[in-house]
Amino acid sequence: MKEQMKTGWQLEHSYAQLPELFFAKTDPTPVKDAALIRLNTSLARELGLDVEGLKSDAGVDVFAGNALPEGAYPIAQAYAGHQFANFTKLGDGRAILLGEQMTPNGDRLDIQLKGSGRTPYSRGGDGRAALGPMLREYIISEAMHALGIPTTRGLAVVTTGEDIFRGIDFPGAILTRVAKSHLRVGTFQYAANWGTVSDVKQLADYAIKRHDPELLDRDTPYVDFLKAVIKRQARLVAQWQLVGFIHGVMNTDNVSIAGETIDYGPCAFMDTYDPKTVFSSIDRQGRYAYGNQPYIGAWNVARLAESILPLLADDEKEALEIAQSAISEYNTIYHEAWLSGMRKKIGLCNEETEDAALVQDLLAIMEESQADYTNTFRSLTFAEVDEMALLGNRKFAAWKERWHKRLEKQQADWTSVQNMMKQHNPAIIPRNHRVEEVLNAAVDGGNYQPLTHLLRVLSDPYAHAEEQKPYTTFPKTTEPFVTYCGT
Ligand code: AMP
Ligand code: MG
Repeated sequence: MKEQMKTGWQLEHSYAQLPELFFAKTDPTPVKDAALIRLNTSLARELGLDVEGLKSDAGVDVFAGNALPEGAYPIAQAYAGHQFANFTKLGDGRAILLGEQMTPNGDRLDIQLKGSGRTPYSRGGDGRAALGPMLREYIISEAMHALGIPTTRGLAVVTTGEDIFRGIDFPGAILTRVAKSHLRVGTFQYAANWGTVSDVKQLADYAIKRHDPELLDRDTPYVDFLKAVIKRQARLVAQWQLVGFIHGVMNTDNVSIAGETIDYGPCAFMDTYDPKTVFSSIDRQGRYAYGNQPYIGAWNVARLAESILPLLADDEKEALEIAQSAISEYNTIYHEAWLSGMRKKIGLCNEETEDAALVQDLLAIMEESQADYTNTFRSLTFAEVDEMALLGNRKFAAWKERWHKRLEKQQADWTSVQNMMKQHNPAIIPRNHRVEEVLNAAVDGGNYQPLTHLLRVLSDPYAHAEEQKPYTTFPKTTEPFVTYCGT
């Protein structure tokens, strides 16, 4: 395969030093006709890459899997996962890790092609991805990043010039994904089920070195590592809840050890507030509904604890007790992170015991009156009810009186309170109908203008700028929005 030079690739391969059980050396499968659809220029610069070089034919060849960047060692990673609670052996069926880019800041970031052809873990799949879902992942992960939520990111999207079949033909595409790592809870489950205790230990040592190096010389590094992952996950899910994000497939293979939001499939943002909200067509039981996400998060980290049990203590009973005590911290960390975020959303800069009830009562009114989640908090921020569902609502009016009294207690001036609220209540989220609109224009009409504009307004969600206003409305349809996994 051709090698490509002078673009700034500085690839290392620490993951590939793990036992061979954990990966399979696999080249991307070349495509017919690569075209660059989207390049994340600011991310490229952060990675120390030359934008013009990436845009050149040789640069695009890398994103398409037609050429390898200098120093690449392409592999597919092995993992397992509980998918809707059923345990399965998985692995990168359509993704290839080119290597870890060493950035000018000294970070080590995975560079992965998603949709780059079959691998030994493809099972029945074609190894490919369609343009719509890859652009969707790009849009939503960029929106999450701008919202300040840890997430994998998209560096580039290319089309392949090949059709892929998903019931009907769709244009094929490849997303270049950047992540702190692609270590998953499922990677540990894989080691525990198909490897030895030594494999589990090597994986844990690797994860600690990569994500929690300060734990290396602790007396109990593995217990502390488990607690660190639990803390990252609890805080991450709290951040999702605060902006109304529904992941859609919180399977253990989609839970990142680094604490990033990963694997954007049938995810979506909630419009009307309802804890039962589910978008995914395959989630018939509502396992991954908005209101369930914190519980599922705890369940998922328990699977990590289970996988590293032999590392927690020599005695099995003692190991179980340690694991249970670590997992029990999840709820407290989650609740504290959530309440602290909610306080900021309603402008509270100190803590009173009444706060949790104040927030819960607001949410109950929002649920009852089917108020829009994002717009309700924006209305509070700007002290005007532009969320029509709450206009003239007596319960809401009474709640506002209580809220005003609570605000008075903290003796902070309204301008500083409002500034804090503006920083925690986004003007704009990637609303489903808007995302669908730009995807249709791109995929069906080859028009990328609406995509560019949407990405621009999403890039600073706390700006509360005039050009964001048209994006705050949502269609009052009777048809529920459904997301599909057929990616
Ligand atoms: P996901 O639902 O994207 O988390 O994927 C679940 C598993 O299916 C992972 O192991 C993927 O790599 C694999 N997979 C998804 N789509 C494909 C495809 N088109 N070809 C091969 N493997 C796939
Ligand atoms: Mg996955």
